[in-house]
Amino acid sequence: MRLIGVGLQGINNFCGLMDLGAGFNISTYYNCIDNIKVAVDAVFKVVLNKAAGEEKDKNKEAGNIENELCISGDGSWSKRGFTSRLGIVSLIGKYSNKILDVVVKSSFCKACVMWKGNTNTVEYEAFYDAHNENCMANHEESAGKMEVDGVLEMFLRSEDLHNARYRYYIGDGDTKTFKALLDKQPYGEEFIVKRKECVLHVKKRMYRRAKEAKKSLTQRKKEKQKDAQASTKTKSKIQPKSKKMQLTNKLMQDLSLYYGLAIRRHTDSVENMKKEIWATFFHKISTDEEPQHLHCPAGAESWCKWRQHEAAGTLCDFTHPPPLDDDVQEVLRPIYEELTADELLERCLGNNTQNNNESFNACVWHLVPKHIFTGRIILEIAAYTSACVFNEGFCTLLKIMEVMGVTIGSAVVQLAHKQDGQRIAQANRRSTDASKESRMARREERALENETYKESEGILYSAGIAD
Ligand SMILES: [Zn+2]
Ligand SMILES: [Zn+2]
Repeated sequence: MRLIGVGLQGINNFCGLMDLGAGFNISTYYNCIDNIKVAVDAVFKVVLNKAAGEEKDKNKEAGNIENELCISGDGSWSKRGFTSRLGIVSLIGKYSNKILDVVVKSSFCKACVMWKGNTNTVEYEAFYDAHNENCMANHEESAGKMEVDGVLEMFLRSEDLHNARYRYYIGDGDTKTFKALLDKQPYGEEFIVKRKECVLHVKKRMYRRAKEAKKSLTQRKKEKQKDAQASTKTKSKIQPKSKKMQLTNKLMQDLSLYYGLAIRRHTDSVENMKKEIWATFFHKISTDEEPQHLHCPAGAESWCKWRQHEAAGTLCDFTHPPPLDDDVQEVLRPIYEELTADELLERCLGNNTQNNNESFNACVWHLVPKHIFTGRIILEIAAYTSACVFNEGFCTLLKIMEVMGVTIGSAVVQLAHKQDGQRIAQANRRSTDASKESRMARREERALENETYKESEGILYSAGIAD
């Protein structure tokens, strides 16, 4: 039942509806949970150990120091009620693509909540002394801090857990986590942790900057209009609309898409990344009088129409679409300069992504649907079970059940093999080049959709969801 995301209430509903009986009472349920937890913890430990061994081997094969690993990290959380929050933070090895560590964070403890308002009594003190160790809340501050604390915690225990240190951290643009790693120096002054950029997230920088620029542009336009109104009271107040391209939402999305693609197509060369990023800028400001397609790829296959015509020898038929507005050019140029800084692009080398962490998060929330209330233990069970399946496949579930003392029947063995067969087939399909390109395109589309979805979700939730 836990594996299909159902708790006590769900079990009892199921038993009643199927006319099986009244279901479990609460203590039976929690005894089962304890049993599951012990089994999951044990198998999880073995699975992590194996993953670390694999990651070290592959890290060495790639020409690095064996126990100085490169990992991607990400946090994900769900909000329950006004104050309680649950979150998971995971680290995944770059070469094995396997989970190396997971932390579950909770800002909620049922027992503590029950005592709320009675904290000045003698009874509370007695409770607190006994409870402190078993308190379910292991996090006090904001959700954003959850990822920071979780990652730091896992860095601090990597030597004990895996006899390894994490040299490179692949994260999204959120600098808080990495800043904490620099400040707290989990491995002392001598061992500096270095940052890598997730190449799928890096394009968001362009969108964010462009959005800021748009604000200042609108402001400037308003001021101009005011001045114009003040000076020419008699003339028409409406200025003639510029035929040049304005900084629309669509343009901002396009620019960030091209920026991301330029980086992902050249994850082995900063020079080439830079060249292709600037190419889109110069391409967009080109006019018939002054074409600037020097950096655009040449040939009939190029995305640049001008280059296509050049290859076909039909440039005389080509007319440029409206170029970027002068003001827009002016605000975008420094953004392009900033976002093509060597230091930033160097961090994008190596085609690193956080994609695996995101799929892992999705797996976990599948087992613990966000709309159903759960506590830390249940989320730990879900996170560790997901990690086992994520790393070693569905068959690890049989191992967990075996440790629990469950008799493994033939149907469940069949199911496990079938599921693992599908996983392997899917993985093989994914690795073929043909589907890679189309998947990339599809992902881009979905990312744009998600962006709009996220914005609307942001209104439903309260402010500070992404802080
Ligand atoms: Zn507590
Ligand atoms: Zn061009």
